[in-house]
Amino acid sequence: MSFFMNSKCYYFAIHLIPILPMKIYKDFTFEAAHFLPAVPEGHKCRRLHGHSYKIRLWVEGQPDVLTGWIMDFGDVKAAFKPFLDLLDHNYLNDIDGLENPTSEQLSIWIWNKVKPELPELSDVEVAETCTSGCIYSGH
Ligand SMILES: [Zn+2]
Repeated sequence: MSFFMNSKCYYFAIHLIPILPMKIYKDFTFEAAHFLPAVPEGHKCRRLHGHSYKIRLWVEGQPDVLTGWIMDFGDVKAAFKPFLDLLDHNYLNDIDGLENPTSEQLSIWIWNKVKPELPELSDVEVAETCTSGCIYSGH
């Protein structure tokens, strides 16, 4: 085996490293109840009801030259877990900052909680039904 084959340079060369950043995502689900106090009387969202929420957290960065990945998906999961536990099987209106728990407010709340733990966070997607949701990118 040649020196080149034994060198770390050869090992690193098997990864394809893009010039521009890439994104990865991790999906989560939770169940929760809520109502929307700011909608008009008679609106169906003003009644207490529940959703099977779907959350997608996006992380942006450059794949590492050694590992070939931007981040361990487990690190994304670990950063969100304490907040996911707060949301799951809970009444969202009772949670500080979620007194009006629209998808938009929930995405901002998640961003504000997770971003300090996960600076590479680039987008928070919240879907409250199969056909309705929003994306918050921190700006
Ligand atoms: Zn709802």
